[in-house]
Amino acid sequence: LSERLSGVFDKLTKQGALTDDDVKTALREVRVALLEADVSLPVARDFIKAVQEKATGQSVTKSITPGQQVVKIVHDELKHVLTGDQDPGALKIDNPPAPILMVGLQGSGKTTTTAKLAKRLKEREGKRVLMASLDTNRPAAMEQLAILGAQIGVDTLPIVKGEDPVQIAKRAKTQASLGGYDVYMLDTAGRLHIDQELIAQAAAVRDVANPREILLVVDGLTGQDAVNVAQEFDDKIGVTGVVLTRMDGDGRGGAALSMRAITGKPIRFVGLGEKMDAIETFEPDRIAGRILGMGDIVALVEKAQETIEAEQAERMMKRFQKGRFNMNDLKMQLEQMMKMGGMEGMMGMMPGAQKMSKQMAASGMDDSILKRQIALINSMTKKERANPDLLAASRKKRIAKGAGLEVSELNKLVKQHRQMADMMKKMGKGGMLKQAMKGMF
Ligand code: GDP
Ligand code: MG
Repeated sequence: LSERLSGVFDKLTKQGALTDDDVKTALREVRVALLEADVSLPVARDFIKAVQEKATGQSVTKSITPGQQVVKIVHDELKHVLTGDQDPGALKIDNPPAPILMVGLQGSGKTTTTAKLAKRLKEREGKRVLMASLDTNRPAAMEQLAILGAQIGVDTLPIVKGEDPVQIAKRAKTQASLGGYDVYMLDTAGRLHIDQELIAQAAAVRDVANPREILLVVDGLTGQDAVNVAQEFDDKIGVTGVVLTRMDGDGRGGAALSMRAITGKPIRFVGLGEKMDAIETFEPDRIAGRILGMGDIVALVEKAQETIEAEQAERMMKRFQKGRFNMNDLKMQLEQMMKMGGMEGMMGMMPGAQKMSKQMAASGMDDSILKRQIALINSMTKKERANPDLLAASRKKRIAKGAGLEVSELNKLVKQHRQMADMMKKMGKGGMLKQAMKGMF
């Protein structure tokens, strides 16, 4: 998809001026991109119309190509539609104890997200949080929350058998006041589909708790369905924000755009994995990049810039673009990965890297391996690092010995290097890196 897009934009690049036809041709591809990203048809139609109006009146800035200009306009418009509150991550929790109600379908990630947010509130804002499970449908669900609570060091309301959700909510409120908690989170039961009972239960809990925030948790992988769910929950219960989970998966992010356009509710957080730290505040930029099929290269570049000297980052990008990527680069990357939340966090942000990261996980790649790999690279000579092709069997033996490791481990590293170099080359060729860097900032 991104290849098709950059193909069109490359053509535009060659013409030098942004005509109506250019815009139309490009937008036809953008429309396909949107639909493939799971954006609903009416939303895509409106969106294209808005972009067309904006693009046609615009003169082409000299320093960028017309193709980049269209990308930029599309990107900006996506951002515009997606942007909600000024600060999606700021939860309304003044006036303690502040109740937060979590709602959504079964399996959408409510319990996980409850714990993730509690951990965040505790660690980033120093809040005392109490979590309560109102899931009376499945006894295991209550234990699940208790286990997560123990794991992250957040208190959970003791489980009392035989109570209904409203009674539990009342008890949570009392306990939160008596215990001096800043926030109490109510994790409700879900169902596979929206039904009267689910809605009635959530509404009853809402009425006793009077929550400051009602967060709807939806599975980002369910695409258009997620939008219908959001619409219905909002109509019947009223929500203050949406949490999109499983955005670490193959979902293309189109649901975010439809959701925002149709319900008007801000997306507050995105879930990026099963671990307790795998949550981030919603960044429209990243989703915009994702919808356009460019992966989260923008996010990757940003994150890289946070931790690496900006200059170094640019040099690195230039090398990648040219398809040059040696062991020094790999070492730098490995070191960065350790800083950026390890292998998983990093690979999840690169287009097409999903599969590779799964392979790595399958072959037992984890962060302790990062350290050993760095040791292996350290054991190479300057020449070998700059030119990994030199690594013949005898050299490999020496290097492995120097690092106190097996040759088989070095072979894995060499293979990984080759895969990464190939991927970098591909991204450089499609002009994706360049577009991500120039067109998007
Ligand atoms: P609930 O029924 O809505 O409470 O859903 P759970 O919180 O129990 O989550 C269901 C499953 O989804 C669990 O296995 C979670 O680990 C998983 N899950 C939740 N959020 C995410 C996410 O952002 N990414 C991924 N990959 N898995 C998630
Ligand atoms: Mg649950």
